[in-house]
Amino acid sequence: MNELCRMNEDQFRRARKLIRRLCANYDGGNCLPLDDGDPCPCPQLISPTLICKYFRAAVLPTDRELCAEIMGGVHSWKRCAVCGGRFLAKGNRALYCGPCAQKERRRKTRDRVRRHRG
Ligand SMILES: [Zn+2]
Repeated sequence: MNELCRMNEDQFRRARKLIRRLCANYDGGNCLPLDDGDPCPCPQLISPTLICKYFRAAVLPTDRELCAEIMGGVHSWKRCAVCGGRFLAKGNRALYCGPCAQKERRRKTRDRVRRHRG
């Protein structure tokens, strides 16, 4: 497992919402365990990198979708280039959702056949 998973902007926004709502160590923007007399701002709230163990272990798993996205690494939500629907991409190069990818593959095969005959 990648120790330093990075969140994209959407994931980071969602993570910050989770922290504000659910993190037991969160106190008005500050982190209670890091408070050594002076209040210390929550580091996970300002960094898109997964640096807080508590967040990763106790806060993030409450949002299963977000957790799978971030911890799964290669899987990320993308917008289909054809229908605009959201789909879970297995790689960075995926452009289409399942049904559209299938159609797109069929279209390419058809084009190839046509070019071959032409
Ligand atoms: Zn699609």
